[in-house]
Amino acid sequence: MKVTVNDSCIACGACESVCDAVFSVDDKAVVNANAVAGNEDCVKEAADCCPVNAIEVE
Ligand code: SF4
Repeated sequence: MKVTVNDSCIACGACESVCDAVFSVDDKAVVNANAVAGNEDCVKEAADCCPVNAIEVE
């Protein structure tokens, strides 16, 4: 699974709240790619929660 955050991110913090192992939010959300394996469920949940659909999952 490849996870990226596009430029639509408004740094709302929702993804970090749902899945803090993978996402950390400063100016925008940053993905810890090394933590994606094993956290796929919360990555998908975060993508669903994102209000601007900035999280892209492949
Ligand atoms: S939930 Fe979406 S908009 Fe909010 S910080 Fe995460 S990627 Fe950015």
